Amino acid sequence: MISIKHLSKIFKNPDGSSITVLKDVNCDIQKGEVISIIGPSGTGKSTLLRAINMLEPPTSGEIWVDGENIMAKGYRLDKMRKKMGMVFQSFNLFDHMTVLENITYAPVRLLKISEENAREEAMDLLRKVGLAQKADVFPDSLSGGQKQRVAIARALAMHPDVILFDEPTSALDPTMVGEVLSVMRQLAKDGMTMLIVTHEMRFARDVSTRIFFMNEGIIYEDGTPEQIFEHPVHSATKAFVNRIQKLVYDIDSEDFDYLQIRTGLNQFFLKYNLSGKAENAYSIISEMLFEHLGGIRPLTFRITFAELSGETALDFMVEGASASPIKDPAALDGIRKKAQAIVEEPTARGFRIKILI
Ligand code: ADP
Ligand code: MG
Repeated sequence: MISIKHLSKIFKNPDGSSITVLKDVNCDIQKGEVISIIGPSGTGKSTLLRAINMLEPPTSGEIWVDGENIMAKGYRLDKMRKKMGMVFQSFNLFDHMTVLENITYAPVRLLKISEENAREEAMDLLRKVGLAQKADVFPDSLSGGQKQRVAIARALAMHPDVILFDEPTSALDPTMVGEVLSVMRQLAKDGMTMLIVTHEMRFARDVSTRIFFMNEGIIYEDGTPEQIFEHPVHSATKAFVNRIQKLVYDIDSEDFDYLQIRTGLNQFFLKYNLSGKAENAYSIISEMLFEHLGGIRPLTFRITFAELSGETALDFMVEGASASPIKDPAALDGIRKKAQAIVEEPTARGFRIKILI
């Protein structure tokens, strides 16, 4: 359906220097595929999507869509635009139009569908994304998650062959990520061809037929979710997919700032969608810091979250200790009930109590 050959994109800076963002991108996308594009920021993921639909015309290479090179002179871009929908990080709804008008605008003008049919279909699409009751409101009264669902309905209204998504959830409040991802999961199930730039690793693993790992302006590695996430070939891929997010606090004295830790943890839980674990975590952390490890200072407290496996751990580390600072194993029985596991182990620099939650 889409075939990309030796695609490059060079941006010229005003000072005459230039930056090569896409070096040599090659790939084939078949109908019905759901491809997630992952990779560090600044590696050209957005530029690739924008190049594919010619919002950002490539410097060289070829893009074949249904057997036609859309970069060839004389190719009419509106033909390709009807085939490709795009959903942006920042929604890009028309603020002066109602939700319904946002959805019917392009089908009426570009596909020449009657107003009435367009409205009927728009209502069907709004029901599909769970927003039928919002048809007549203006976008500014919607939450970010609702706006993004409208943007998806708007893309669908054009009956595209493929939809390109550029980080559709990264501008959203964490509480709204799920509602947008679940609409996208449904689209994938329905057989929609999708190309999705995303940082949501678990979503990418669950929903994709293939993963492109982009790095340094090329598709560095591509394969099934299993190949990329479980058995990556390149070390850069491996490092990226096994990334661990963490927050570290050194606790030097008894009057440490517990409130500051709570505030930091709160943001951490929100950011990584871990709010379900928060209450349990706070109870374990305060019991550890104030009771079991009460007199033990300095110590280091750390929370880690492995994005792919979802493993979340609370680490309490005492530098220089060779044995557990908690002498009575039964002291942790209460915490053991709240945790998935407790591992007490010596480390290179001291001793660690790791509590998986
Ligand atoms: P990603 O989406 O992977 O984070 P982008 O495709 O947005 O990466 O950007 C890749 C690189 O291209 C960045 O270094 C960015 O600064 C540069 N870039 C993107 N758009 C432009 C532009 N219009 N002009 C100049 N440089 C750009
Ligand atoms: Mg981007």
